Order: sequence, then structure tokens, then C-alpha cells
Amino acid sequence: MPGKPLRALLIEDNPIHARLIQKLLEDVGSYAVELTTRGSLSEGLESLGNGEGLDVVLLDLVLPDSQELDTYFRVRTAVPEMPIVILSGIDDVKLASRAVEAGAQDYLVKTSLDAHTLGRSIRYAREITHAQRTEWDSPSFRLAQQQFLKAAELMDLDDNLRQRLLFPQRTQIVSFPFRRDNDDEVETVFGYRVQHVLSMGPTKGGIRYHPEVNLGETGALAMWMTWKCALVQLPFGGAKGGVRFDPTDFSRRELQRLTRRFTSEIIGMIGPDKDIPAPDMGTDEQTMAWIMDTYSQQVGYTVPAVVTGKPVVLGGSEGRSEATGRGVVYVVEEAARRLEMDLSGATAVVQGFGNVGSNAARFFDELGVKVLGVSDVTGGIFNPRGLNLPDVLEYTRQHRFLEGYPEAEAVTNEELLELQCDILAPCAMQGQIHAGNADKLRCRILAEGANGPTSLEADEILQDRGVYVLPDILANAGGVTVSYFEWVQDTQNYMWSLDQINERLRTILVGAYQRMAERAESNGYDMRTAALVEGISRVREAKLSRGLFP
Ligand code: NAD
Repeated sequence: MPGKPLRALLIEDNPIHARLIQKLLEDVGSYAVELTTRGSLSEGLESLGNGEGLDVVLLDLVLPDSQELDTYFRVRTAVPEMPIVILSGIDDVKLASRAVEAGAQDYLVKTSLDAHTLGRSIRYAREITHAQRTEWDSPSFRLAQQQFLKAAELMDLDDNLRQRLLFPQRTQIVSFPFRRDNDDEVETVFGYRVQHVLSMGPTKGGIRYHPEVNLGETGALAMWMTWKCALVQLPFGGAKGGVRFDPTDFSRRELQRLTRRFTSEIIGMIGPDKDIPAPDMGTDEQTMAWIMDTYSQQVGYTVPAVVTGKPVVLGGSEGRSEATGRGVVYVVEEAARRLEMDLSGATAVVQGFGNVGSNAARFFDELGVKVLGVSDVTGGIFNPRGLNLPDVLEYTRQHRFLEGYPEAEAVTNEELLELQCDILAPCAMQGQIHAGNADKLRCRILAEGANGPTSLEADEILQDRGVYVLPDILANAGGVTVSYFEWVQDTQNYMWSLDQINERLRTILVGAYQRMAERAESNGYDMRTAALVEGISRVREAKLSRGLFP
């Protein structure tokens, strides 16, 4: 058994169980474990206080001086970064899912424990923690993993699959130079392309230009793309890409140079049958046109299907540019039908006024929903009588940002989220709704146009307060759905009309909504978990049918 032994602290009051676990650890085989055992939480916490160099905590939840999740939270507070594997006598799937949701790396039931499972769980707990401390470290990746682990626990996902799906399959990190308009200056930026699951067909996912892009965020977005494509039953695995810089600081010529260079850096990964980028934050139709052109130049002929979300004249699809916002509204309409809520005269607030937010606001307005407030990176605007949406859109066409719009009151982005309304649609960034503001939201429906806008803690608060959450992987799936239509049209050299696109989009989103809502009802899940379980189940089925190579 080569290598340094792994140092574990077992907090367990039952000496028979402690001996059993010690014995199992001796049988792990692939690595040695140096085990220290403590019989109560206070003794355990004392050891953790002095316990430099520990690798993992193995924790029983029911101890003489502490019970159930309280035990976990007290240890987690003492050692926020430590991998914790729960070894519990309580075989309760809800408790297990709450524990992993709260950040425990695994939850194993002692009565069905064997050396192999324990050894693997500890090894994987360390790997997750290590990854979370390195390039993968980002709140979004933690959120995506915890959401996945919670769903996996509830659906009793096979351990192999759980481990395979917890990290993306393929990743490329590039750093590359490009010339600023001032010819003397060359800048170097970091870019990423991440493919989460390769088993479902080509991978699919947007490219983001933003100053906070990193590997973890890109990985989280790729993982969400997998579940989203599977939930709406598209033949794609999830991917995502991004470049870490602020596009608002760059001229169009600089953006073109940067985009072309990034494309050539990741050219080995993308392709119409391999991985198909699309727009995301900071990128648009023009960016896709440059990617398509660069790719086509390299292979020597025109390949429209290498990207989606490109201009219609280059083989883009009718309806793609507004599809994500349109999809948000279709899903809200379907939810309102189920909730028997009349949307005519209902009110909405939209955070983010880019591609997704401005279109969602426009379609709400066209439906007769009064849009009271919208916002962008410069702040929000609010009019209790309802905004004149065409006028606001015209204002942003002229001034780029909402700041200074005269016919409304200025509010901050935080205040905007707390406005009283029937539908709140966060369509900007991740991490906007959290433990600090979830109890202040005053909406009936939360329709997540953005990816990952809501933290796990906020999810619980919203559920307790009866807010009807339409999770991101459903609410913003309109974009990838019409991207799929675009890809199909490109590969068949055939064009569909806007009416055909919108009708097919509605059919697909309504079908996915119904599968999610029925699973939520029959299993007693919240909507997000139901949507994730739907998506993960499809990936599980595909992976099991394909088997393992070699
Ligand atoms: P975009 O760049 O077109 O617009 C982003 C908007 O958010 C802008 O109005 C910007 O000013 C605003 N914004 C940025 N930072 C903000 C902050 N801190 N607070 C408030 N507003 C802020 O991007 P987009 O394509 O509309 O994407 C928005 C979200 O929707 C992202 O989470 C993206 O991943 C998700 N999404 C986009 C698509 C798509 O087809 N474009 C599809 C699915 C999901």
C-alpha cells in the first residue's frame, strides 16, 4: 500500500460500530487509514481543534451530546473546508439529501456498509474537496454539485454514475494573446471549454464573456446544460465555454480578434457533430458569426451547424435570438394554467435586460402582464403603474443601459428583487437570490431565466414560503431548444417558419413542464429537484444502455 496513510477522525459513540468501521478501513486495500476515534461531539470538536493534518471526518449523527443534522452543522462550522462523510444509523433518504445539500460529501448507512463502499466514498470525498479548492472552486460549481448530489441521493443513483457525473468529462483551458486597437498593446486572457457528458450526442452550450468566468463557473453551467437538454429530451450532452474579460470595455474590432483567436484555440473540441457553441452572457449573433467564419476558414468550406444563435442570413433560425425569453413566458403560462392563475392583469418584475430579460419582459407585456420593473448592471427602474415596454426598449437601443430612463423611479438591483409582483424573473446572473434576501421576495412565481440564480438555502426558504419556483433548467430551456431546431435545419439545409418554431418550442416546453410537475407531485419533490431527477434519469438510462468501454 504505497503513499502516506490517510488520517481520519471517527466521531462515533457506539464502540461496536467504531470497531466495525476500524475493521472495514483495514480492508479498504487501496490505501492505509490512520484512524482516531472520539465518542462524543465535544471530544470530536476538541480533536478537530488540535487536529492539524486530518484528511477526513467520519461522523455519526446521533451522539450523546448532539442529534442528527445539528451534529453535522456543528462539525461543519468548526472545519468548513474538511471533507465529511456521514456514517449514520438512520436510513432516511430525506435526511441524507438534506445532509449532502448542506455540504456533506456523502451519507452512508452503517447497517449496509462494506469496505469497498466506505473506501471509495472517503477517496471521493477528498477528491471533491481538493477540486473545490483548486481551479474548480466557484460558488456556482458548489451549487451545481450540491443540487446534483441531493437529487442523486433522492433517486438512489448508482454510485458509479454519481461519481462520473459529478465532474465534467472533458475540459480545455487556454490562455491566449490578442491585439488591442492600440497596436502596441497585446493582452493575454484565459478561456475555457467544458464538456460535461459525451454520451447523449454532441455537446451543446453557450460561450460567456464576463470578467468572472472561471473553470468552476463554466463547469457548473455545463452540468446544468446536461440536465436541461435531458429534461427537454434533446439529443445533446451539456457543455459551456467562456473567456474571462469584460466585453463592455472592448471595441467591436477587438471583440472580433479575440473571438477568432479563442475559436482557433478550441477548434479541436468544437464541430457540428462534436460540440456546438451558442450565445450566453456577453456574446450574441455577431460573436457566433465570427466563430462560424473562423471554423469554416480552417476546414475550407462553410459549416453553419458548428454554432447556433447566428444571424438568419448565415443559417440561423427564425426565433432563436428571442427564444430564451419566449420560453420563460411559455413556461410561466403553463404554470399559471396549473395554478389557476389569471395572467391578464398580473404583474411581473424582470432582473437583467439583455437577451433573456428584455425578451421575457417584451413577451410578458405582449401577453397583457404588467411589467412593473426591470434592471441591468447599472440598476433598476420601477413604475407601479407598469412600464411602457416599447419605450424602455427604444431607450436601451439608444443609450445601451437603463440608467437615466426618465419615466420611472430608479431602484437598486436588490430593491428590485423585493418588489411586490406575481412573477419575478431573474434573468441576469447566478447567485442573486440567497439566504439574505429569499424571505424578502414578494412574488408568487419565481421564473429563473438566468442559470443558477438561487442558492440552496434560498430554495428552502422559498419552498417554506410557498413561492412556486420554475427552475432554470426548465424556465430558460427555450434557448437551447430553438438552438436544436437551428442545428437540425442547418444539417438538413431546410428552413422552418417562425410559427413552426414557436409551436414546436411550446410543445417541447409544455411537455417538459408536465413531466416535472407530475414527478414533483407523485414523489413530493420541490420543482427543482423534480426537474433534476427527470434530467438525471434520462442520462442514467443512456449511460447504462451504452455500457462501459473497454
Ligand atoms: P446578456 O449579456 O445579454 O444580458 C445580461 C444582462 O444582465 C444585462 O442586462 C446586464 O446588464 C445584466 N447584468 C449583468 N450583471 C448584473 C448584475 N450584477 N445585476 C443585475 N444585472 C446584471 O446575457 P443573457 O444572454 O441575457 O444571459 C442572462 C442569463 O441567462 C445568464 O445567466 C445566462 O447563462 C442565461 N441564459 C442565457 C441564454 C441565452 O440564450 N442567451 C439561454 C439560457 C440561459
